[in-house]
Parts: sequence; C-alpha cells; structure tokens
Amino acid sequence: MNVEQADILIIGAGPAGAVAAGLLRRQGCSVLVLEREQFPRFSIGESLLPQSMAYIEEAGMLQDVIEAGFQYKNGAAFAWRDRHTAFDFREKFSCGWGTTYQVQRARFDKVLADAASRMGAEIRYRHEVIAADVSGDQPVVTVRAPDGSTYQVRASFMLDASGFGRILPRLLQLEQPSNFPVRGAIFTHIEDRVPPASFDRNKILISVHPEHTDVWYWTIPFSDGRCSLGVVARQDFLAQYDGTETERLQALVAEMPYLAGLLAHARWDTPARQIVGYSSNVKSLWGKGFALLGNAGEFLDPVFSSGVTIAFKSASLATACIERQHRGEAVDWQADFAVPLKRGVDTFRTFVEAWYEGGFQRIIFHPDQTDEIRRMISAILAGYAWDTTNPFVAESRRRLAVLEELCAG
Ligand code: FAD
Repeated sequence: MNVEQADILIIGAGPAGAVAAGLLRRQGCSVLVLEREQFPRFSIGESLLPQSMAYIEEAGMLQDVIEAGFQYKNGAAFAWRDRHTAFDFREKFSCGWGTTYQVQRARFDKVLADAASRMGAEIRYRHEVIAADVSGDQPVVTVRAPDGSTYQVRASFMLDASGFGRILPRLLQLEQPSNFPVRGAIFTHIEDRVPPASFDRNKILISVHPEHTDVWYWTIPFSDGRCSLGVVARQDFLAQYDGTETERLQALVAEMPYLAGLLAHARWDTPARQIVGYSSNVKSLWGKGFALLGNAGEFLDPVFSSGVTIAFKSASLATACIERQHRGEAVDWQADFAVPLKRGVDTFRTFVEAWYEGGFQRIIFHPDQTDEIRRMISAILAGYAWDTTNPFVAESRRRLAVLEELCAG
C-alpha cells in the first residue's frame, strides 16, 4: 500500500479540524486534513457562543465569518409557563466578545474549511480514515479514497477532529460512557413566520416543557427568516411519541403553549430527524503522537450551546502544544492540554447537571437577581467557562448550590 508522509495530520474538517488547521498554518506547519464527507454537508450545532469568536479570530478566519452574513446573536432567552427571562451576553463578568452568530452549519463549516485551505492547508474531501496504528514511532492511518482505493499516511503528529465519528476513541478503545442519561433530540429547519415584534431574533430561545422540566426546546433563528427548531428529552420519554419525526416534534411543540403560539404560522418544509445518545467521554484526551479535539473527545449536552466553543478551545490548546514541540520544548500533554481543557468543560458540566436537576432553572426564572450575579451567569452562558476570576467558574458547584438554596427559599 502506498504510504505518504505528512507533518501534522488532522482527521475531520469540522470546526475543530478547520480551526486547528488554520492555527497550524499560521505557525508555518504543513497540514493535511482528511475529511470523510463532501462539503457543504449538514451538521447540528448552530448557535455559537461569544467566547468562540476569540478562536475564530486567533485562527485568522474572522473576516470570512463576518462576510458570510450569518444571524447576529447577543444572548439567550428562556421561557417556562408564563415566566420569561433573557441574558444579554454584552452584560457579562468576563472580558471579551459579547456577540456572535447563529449559523447554518453546512455553510459555516465550509467557510472555515475554505479559509483553512486558502491559508495553505491541504483538505482532501471524501477521504475516510478507516484504521489507525499508534504503536510505532509515528502514528499511521489507513485511508479510503473516493474511488475505493486505500493508502496510508504517516504523520509526525495527529489530531483527531472526527466529531461524532470518534475515530480514534473507537479504533484505540479509548471510549468511556458518559455519566449523563441517554437523551435524544428531534430537530428540523422551518420557515418560522414569527411576527418580528414577538420574537428577538438576536437570541437563542430555550423553552422548557410546562410539566417535564428536563424536556426543553431550542429555537435558533437564522438570518433568512428560517430557524432551527429541536426538542431534547430522555430517550424513554421520546419513545412515547409515534409517527414520523416531524409529527413527533409537532406533538411535542404543541405541549409548550408559548412556543406553539410563536410558531402557529410556521411552514414545516423539511423532514425532522432524530439523534440519540450523543453524550460521550474518553479515557484520555491524548496519547503518544496524537490528541483528541472537540467531540472526538468529550461531548456533554447541547443545552448551553457549548460544543463548538469547546471544539475551538481544544484546537487552540493542542496547536499551542504542537508549536512548543516544534521548538524542541518538552510538552506534558496532560498538564498543558487535557487539564486546562477540562477546566471549562467541567464548569459547563456543573451547569448542565444543575439544569437537568432543576436548580439552574429555579435561579434564572427567579424574580429577584442581583446584577452582579446575572453578569457572572451571563459570562458562563457566553462561553467564558475558563475564566477563573469568575466565582461561578472557580467554585461553580458550591456557588450554584448556595444560589439554588436562596432561590428555593
Ligand atoms: P464535527 O462538527 O462533528 O466535525 C467532524 C468532522 O469529521 C465531520 O465533518 C465528519 O464528516 C468528519 N469525520 C468523521 N469521521 C471521519 C473519518 N473516519 N475520516 C475522516 N473524516 C471524518 N454546539 C454548539 O456550539 N451550539 C449548538 O447550538 C449545539 N447544538 C447541538 C444540538 C445537538 C442535538 C447536538 C447533539 C449537538 C449540538 N452541539 C452544539 C454540539 C456540536 O454539534 C458539536 O460540538 C460540534 O459540531 C463539534 O465539532 P467537531 O469539529 O468536534 O466535530
């Protein structure tokens, strides 16, 4: 079999892979990206967090994203029964970007991948990694080309950015079950036809089911009068609903009167689809000659739209380690990559757990909140989960527990 030699090999050209490729090109590294699909291709994960903008900027892709004309986003709104609250991300504790975008991922991922190519990364579409061997001096992968033929690539270092493909975790037996129960999402894109006065299109809307508060809906407006609509619930709860995925989603929307009212005139023109059991974890985020980025590592839960931000953060940390390796410095991948990445992931984890246990919902829907606490929570919701000067990052579990108790009283 033909064996090629690459410097840095990246598996997958989604957000993690494309931003990593851009960052590495800025360091002057030669980069080969192998991507299974032809872009543009559909992906879920359409609401970005302001923190993600810093990594897009760091990768030199900001202008490309701005010029793409995506829907501006400045916050998150929440609805439950007759209670409504909204966080404006510009009013936040942490420094940095306070606005971002809501993106059709097919186009967004192509914008990033095209920017990486323009910066000199070689991206091979429809080239699927089917095997990996990390036992030698350098990692080697086996690749299936579009014509069905196979070849191998040996690299000085490999980044697995294969997302839900989770290629290295699966091939190297690194997978570990997530602590979260198995949840699923049913989702689609619709022409929403919501009257402008009744809906702030600059915010994601998270609606909570009136009776089952661990069931929630996302409404993510786009810039073209359409929106992404989805519901998340435990798999056993979703199983009660019959029919096509569209009928099941419509039945669930009908149970949330505020959302059903907003979408009363929507045109449902795209068949809904379902994804189940997406939360995942790994035994280790790195190994000899490789590191795992984005969803190829750990994926928590969609509720706080943290996935793409974590993917970018992992790309930023890993490429900084590679740069130091290239300078001949010793890199401790656990201390310099895995531990700092997990810091923010663990902050999000605490908030996700508090969301499903109900405590976080009690906090945000509580009528009395100080501006200072709201700014700290707004910063987390904006993605600043690594800012340890925020007490809700430094001591997230204790702080949330105290606040939950106050709100319960
Ligand atoms: P991906 O985006 O999955 O990209 C991986 C790429 O690798 C793909 O292009 C794939 O084709 C390629 N690939 C896979 N296998 C191979 C292979 N063997 N060889 C070569 N290429 C391969 N995140 C947010 O930030 N905001 C949201 O609003 C949000 N909503 C979500 C809603 C739901 C229901 C779910 C499940 C997730 C949501 N997420 C959200 C998370 C988001 O989808 C992911 O975190 C994000 O896409 C991760 O990016 P990535 O680059 O790691 O992987």
